[in-house]
Amino acid sequence: MALIGWPTLLIHPQCPLCHQAWSGPSFCPSCRDQLKLNQPRPQGTQPIPWRALGLYDANWRQLILRLRQRASPKVIRVLASECLALLPKPRSAIQLCAIPPRPGHQPGPPQWIQREISRQSRMRAQPLLHRRRACLGQHHLSGSQRRQNLQGVFSVEPLQHPSAKVMLLDDVVTTGATSQAAAEALQAAGYGVVGVLCLAHTSSLFDATMT
Ligand SMILES: [Zn+2]
Repeated sequence: MALIGWPTLLIHPQCPLCHQAWSGPSFCPSCRDQLKLNQPRPQGTQPIPWRALGLYDANWRQLILRLRQRASPKVIRVLASECLALLPKPRSAIQLCAIPPRPGHQPGPPQWIQREISRQSRMRAQPLLHRRRACLGQHHLSGSQRRQNLQGVFSVEPLQHPSAKVMLLDDVVTTGATSQAAAEALQAAGYGVVGVLCLAHTSSLFDATMT
């Protein structure tokens, strides 16, 4: 009987992004470098306070597009733990709220990452927001047109934990009009809103400050 050699039985640990040999808990150093995960995180205050894991450059764009096509549990695990590290403390005072998908769309990265953060930290993660109606595609709209387009789009679950402040979660933030509309709907229902945490922000044109 032929023996199966040890090497064929071992699963070699890989970086979940580039699949090079790597056994650490995150992405490999080269992928972390390309995503600028070792650098200060971009943040700003307009139109609501925001923090991002990175700016939406070619590398982040590729990662997010790939993730939207296929949920990779290992990638989601790393991104969730990176997001978790950016949340204000104490985390028990924060309630996460992923921006819901458009009507007719399946849950995507914001929902997957919210679920994984909740698993890693036991943070509250009930769906607080729902899309009441479809809005137009926003790519061609200016900031003020986007705000108009989003009026009345979100409905909100009744307030259950008045002390908890909501942190919105999204994959890509562009003008922030969607986050702002979500924050306004939550505030109108009595929720406090801390801001929005996103994987990538498209621009530093607003008031992005590197701190
Ligand atoms: Zn890698």
